[in-house]
Amino acid sequence: MDHFDALTITKNDTGQTVQWGQFAKMDLMEGDVLVRISHSTINYKDGLAITGKAPVVRRWPMIPGIDFAGVVEQSDNVDFKPGDAVVLNGWGLGETHLGGYAQYARVKGEWLVPLPSAFTPAHAMAIGTAGYTAMLCVLALEAHDVTPDKGSVLVTGAAGGVGSVAVALLTKLGYSIIAATGRPEEEGYLKSLGATEILPRAELSSPAKPMGRERWVGAIDVAGSHTLANCISQTKYGGAVAACGLAQGMDLPSNVAPFILRGVTLAGVDSVMVPKPKRMKAWSRLAADLDLAKLDSITVTRPIQDVIALAPEILAGKVRGRVVLEIA
Ligand code: NDP
Repeated sequence: MDHFDALTITKNDTGQTVQWGQFAKMDLMEGDVLVRISHSTINYKDGLAITGKAPVVRRWPMIPGIDFAGVVEQSDNVDFKPGDAVVLNGWGLGETHLGGYAQYARVKGEWLVPLPSAFTPAHAMAIGTAGYTAMLCVLALEAHDVTPDKGSVLVTGAAGGVGSVAVALLTKLGYSIIAATGRPEEEGYLKSLGATEILPRAELSSPAKPMGRERWVGAIDVAGSHTLANCISQTKYGGAVAACGLAQGMDLPSNVAPFILRGVTLAGVDSVMVPKPKRMKAWSRLAADLDLAKLDSITVTRPIQDVIALAPEILAGKVRGRVVLEIA
C-alpha cells in the first residue's frame, strides 16, 4: 500500500486546517521501524494540537497523536522484527515527528517499548500517555519515600485521564486517596476506583496560604497554578508533590516556606523525553500494579474519526477517564 489514511494538520496565513485524507508512505519521516498502528488515544496535549489552542505542533503538515500501539511491519533495527507488538509515547510524536492518528508510522526503534504481555494494544492505549504519566508520578512519590503508612495522597483532576489512572494505581498500592474534582457527579466513579475522600476542586483553585494545614503526605497534580500552590502548601512535613500538568495554568504562585520549613519536595514529571530504562520500568510497573478491571471501567472505545470532536471536549474537562481510539 503506497498511501494510507491519516489525520493531518496544515497551516497557512489564516490558521490551521485539520482533515482526514490519504498520506503517502514515502512522505513518512526518517526512522528504522515501520509500524502498522491499530490503536491510539486522546490526551490533553492532542486536544491542544487539534484545536490549535497551544503551539504543540512544530512541523507542517503534521499527523497529530502523541502515542500509539501497533505491530511492527518492517524493521532495520536489531531489537524489533515484523510482528512484534509495540507501544510509543512521546519523543515528539505529533509535535515534531509524524504521529499516531494514522494507519502507519515510521519511527526510531529506540523510541519503541515492547508491549508488555499483560496488555493488549487496546489496553496500552487505554493507559496511553496519560496513564504512563500517572505511573511516572507514582514512581516520583515513591522515590521521595511517600509510603502508604505516612498518610493520604491527593490527586487533582481526578476524573481526567492522568487522575483516573493515578487513583486506580494508588489504590492497588495501598494508599488512602483524596480525589480533587470539579465534577461532583463523579463522586461514585472516583470512589469505585478507590478514592477515600472527595475534595471539591474549588477548594484548591484560589491563591494558597504560604503554609496551610498539613493534609496529605504526597500529591499528584495535573493542574499547576493555584492548585499546585495549594498542593504544596498543605503537604505534610517531609512529603512530596509530583507536578505533571497545567490544566488550570502554567504559572506557579507559590513561596519557599513549605520547602525550607517542612522539607517538602516538588518533583517535576515529564513523559516525553524520559530515557528508555525508566519507560521500561514504568510500563512493567503498570503491568504489575494496574487492575485491568479498573482500567476497563475508566475506558471508552471510539473510532479514530471521532477524535476531532473529542479535542475541544478534553480541553473543557468533559472527558472522563480514558478514550481508546480504534484505527481500522
Ligand atoms: P484530562 O483532560 O483527561 O484531565 C484533566 C483534568 O483536570 C480534567 O478532567 C479536570 O478533572 C481537571 N481540570 C480541568 N480544568 C481544571 C482547572 N481549571 N483547575 C483544576 N483542574 C482542572 O487531561 P489528562 O489527564 O490527559 O492531562 C492532565 C494534564 O497533565 C494536562 O495539563 C496535560 O497537559 C498534562 N500531562 C503532562 C504530561 C507530561 O509529560 N508532563 C503527560 C500527560 C499529561 P476534574 O473534572 O476531575 O476536576
